[in-house]
Amino acid sequence: MTNFFRANVDAMASYVPGEQPKRGSQVIKLNSNENPYPPSPKALAALQNIDGEWLRRYPEPFGDQFRHAASQVLKVPSDWIIVGNGSDEILNVVMRACTEPGRKVVYPTPTYVLYRTLTEMQAADVVEIPYTQDYQLPVAELIAVDGAVTFIASPNSPSGHVVPSADLEKLASQLSGVLVIDEAYVDFAEADALALVKDYENVMIIRTLSKGYSLAGLRLGFGIAQPKLLQGLFKVKDSYNIDAIACTVATAAITDQAYKNACVAKIKASRTQLTKEFQQLGFQVWESHTNFLLVQPSQQNAAYLYQKLKEQQILIRYFPHPGLLDKLRITIGTDEQNQILVNAIKALL
Ligand code: PMP
Repeated sequence: MTNFFRANVDAMASYVPGEQPKRGSQVIKLNSNENPYPPSPKALAALQNIDGEWLRRYPEPFGDQFRHAASQVLKVPSDWIIVGNGSDEILNVVMRACTEPGRKVVYPTPTYVLYRTLTEMQAADVVEIPYTQDYQLPVAELIAVDGAVTFIASPNSPSGHVVPSADLEKLASQLSGVLVIDEAYVDFAEADALALVKDYENVMIIRTLSKGYSLAGLRLGFGIAQPKLLQGLFKVKDSYNIDAIACTVATAAITDQAYKNACVAKIKASRTQLTKEFQQLGFQVWESHTNFLLVQPSQQNAAYLYQKLKEQQILIRYFPHPGLLDKLRITIGTDEQNQILVNAIKALL
């Protein structure tokens, strides 16, 4: 029988994203780190005002309207920004441009599982280096590998920790390959690594509108790097990778910083509250700089809790990976959702 697929694709495990229940179902969804609040009213108004003429024509290929708005907010030139169909697409574009069989892709684990999937897709060599128990970055080991691409998620998922900027700078200055600093959750952190792109031509910062801006369904992410790095990425991206609707709505959303900051403040306050509640239940809770918490129940019953909550229409994330076996990742919801979750867990213990 013909084998349709390349050997590396045949050997790949499928990437399994969090469960996405049907629209309208009465589920409390705390499994994909979505923002529990609606998008900015200005973004929704922009959506209402989409002109049919913009849809008749192909969109502007580089998302210039969004790049201009983001450049004002972030204080970087607009030609240092690449826009994509979610930040996942930017990660994919980096991989398509920079990796091939025989090149190494390296990252500390546990982290975002997509890095492995993308590496396997390219048939490049996966090099995974474990974090220490207390999530210290294995800097020397990462530098020793000097991959074609090094991925660091900061804040990281599922741990929620931020990588110290001194560690990131050591990597930036000593790696010859591309250092991708994935800041998908940066809106919930106190520090960011954006300044590094100005000093290092091998650094790329990745951001998204899926988390802080409540626009996961819109699919808009972006990368920031010096033009020398971006020009190679532009060669391999799809010609029209961001549609006219996404570009328009995202532009309105990123311009409305006050609304995003207010949502983020509410989520951080809920994060503090939920941390206390879990600690009172005797759970170990990792300090989070994101919109989720990594927790370890006291009685090693993470899988049981995940399953029982699911039966009650409360979705959280259980990672059956070595080293993560007994932990749960729980997105911060509204205070009302968080309370329902805590009460459900109390009833199950
Ligand atoms: N990076 C990390 C670390 C993430 O957790 C996610 C969300 N699953 C992404 C990137 C991708 O986000 P998006 O494609 O929605 O921008």
